[in-house]
Amino acid sequence: MKESAIVMSTEQHYDAIVIGAGVCGIYQIKRLTELGMTATVLELGGDLGGTWYWNRYPGCRYDSESYTYGYFFSQELFNEWHWVEAYSPQPENLRYLNYVADKFDLRRHMQFNVRVGSAHWDEKEDLWRLGLDDGRELSCRFLIMGTGLLSQPTMPNIDGIDDFEGDSYHTYYWPHQEVDLAKRRVAVIGTGATAIQVIGEIADKVGDLKIFQRRANWAAPLNNYKIDDAKMAKLRARYEEIQADCAKSPGGFEHQPDRRGFWEVGREERIKLWDRLYDEPGFGIWLQNFREIFTDEDANAELSEYIADRIRQRVKDPVTAEKLIPKDHGFGVQRVPLETNYYEAYNRDNVQLIDISETPIERVTTTGIKTSEAEYEFDLIIYATGFDAITGAFDHIDIRGTNGQKLKGKWDSGGIQTYLGIFVHGFPNMLMPAGPQSGSASSNYPRGIENGVNWVTALLEYARARDIKRVEAGAEAEREWTEHVVQMYSMMLMRKARSWFTGYNSNVVGHEYGNPRYLVYNGGAPKYVRRIDQVASDGYTGVEMDGERAAAS
Ligand code: NAP
Repeated sequence: MKESAIVMSTEQHYDAIVIGAGVCGIYQIKRLTELGMTATVLELGGDLGGTWYWNRYPGCRYDSESYTYGYFFSQELFNEWHWVEAYSPQPENLRYLNYVADKFDLRRHMQFNVRVGSAHWDEKEDLWRLGLDDGRELSCRFLIMGTGLLSQPTMPNIDGIDDFEGDSYHTYYWPHQEVDLAKRRVAVIGTGATAIQVIGEIADKVGDLKIFQRRANWAAPLNNYKIDDAKMAKLRARYEEIQADCAKSPGGFEHQPDRRGFWEVGREERIKLWDRLYDEPGFGIWLQNFREIFTDEDANAELSEYIADRIRQRVKDPVTAEKLIPKDHGFGVQRVPLETNYYEAYNRDNVQLIDISETPIERVTTTGIKTSEAEYEFDLIIYATGFDAITGAFDHIDIRGTNGQKLKGKWDSGGIQTYLGIFVHGFPNMLMPAGPQSGSASSNYPRGIENGVNWVTALLEYARARDIKRVEAGAEAEREWTEHVVQMYSMMLMRKARSWFTGYNSNVVGHEYGNPRYLVYNGGAPKYVRRIDQVASDGYTGVEMDGERAAAS
């Protein structure tokens, strides 16, 4: 990058700064340094890994097949790493990301324990000025947001949380040292994907386990398995094929939807398919299903009833089984948690489901949890209460674009608005390889990230070749993309769901149910990639480069 025009003061200047050293930041910094750009990654955590650095709760593991979650940018890397399990656990995933960073010597471009407090656009110099909580000020031409989808955990809005005298953790902040569970009285609040992993893992390890469920969540078996040398060799031989399969599926997985019409296939045939998919590993029952399950109420209801019967077969107590079957939404309209021994946990004598939709939690006490019906004592409370998803990480930085406009203000007042999920009008040179409304947010995340990072890197190369200092989404392009994203929701049953895909979080003011926020692109990964590739090959249509600005003035 040509930076000669920039007058350096005491702050340090970079061609690009990446916020976040997770799956996105790790690959992005690799690409930036290959371009010869001066760049650094600023990471709040004590080390790299993002989601896999923070989430250390029992049972934490991939729900994507490990070999489709890892990077594909290097076949050598793919050949070197042996995934031991089809759905790899957190410690292994963190080891993998460290291996990648070390192999490509990326760690020296990363700074840890750094909180970015502010990022303000300097219109005169065409650069971003960052204020860090450690007092430093840095500047950069391009600001790249690798802040993750689920990196802003939220505690429930329940009185008395700080009064509790036992141990308590949000799953995201699970301690690095081992937590003793044996014989302890444990509460889990929440029944999302995280809680479902925790409960299946700890039910037989704790003394007593009480689960506080506000809303039931559909879940399906993970059916995990070991990958031995022979299996791994077969996967390595399929490197290109796996990549191609993921690229052509809407969700970025190897699972391809069943393209037969739901109603064209007889009921017997549908049940046969579901019997098979329920027993297969991973998201098959969700993503290899008929496409109508996402859009057609009747088709979805039939599948939901099938899954409900499976739950009834697995949970011995019929009252508990009914409580575990969601009545407010159909199967698959929220991202489906994958489980191991989740339903069987409720057959244990030491496990009890407490339905807080009937008997709400009144407060956390010094010794436990008080509901409208009873008071329970605990040694440990686990908050598996979710995240201020996708935009939460942006909202926690004071980001200001042209004319001092706040990004949070723009999104709070006008709804989330982006161009391609990569740009925001009024925030030049801020690039989001896997931002809100991008195709990455709704797919097998790393597959989307690699596409997003490659696209952003190509844009930076394009800008460098033309000495372009400023790239910004045009207002009209942003309006058109955002409308398209919103329009896609209207076809999906998920538009009604209380899920982070619709921006729901009861613990964040303004994100409660009934106030939908359009956070993800629902057109599927192949369509998204075709669109962004077309934009690039047409010379970045919709993106105003400083040449155009000069021409216009
Ligand atoms: P979540 O799906 O948002 O679930 C949060 C849970 O906490 C819900 O059951 C929610 O109840 C409950 N809750 C929140 N506030 C509450 C309150 N004030 N009182 C009582 N209950 C409250 O969060 P998550 O389980 O962490 O999962 C989020 C996403 O992370 C998943 O969709 C998935 O994409 C990802 N994830 C992936 C994996 C993996 O396998 N790779 C594992 C875990 C998570 P309501 O439903 O009533 O709001």
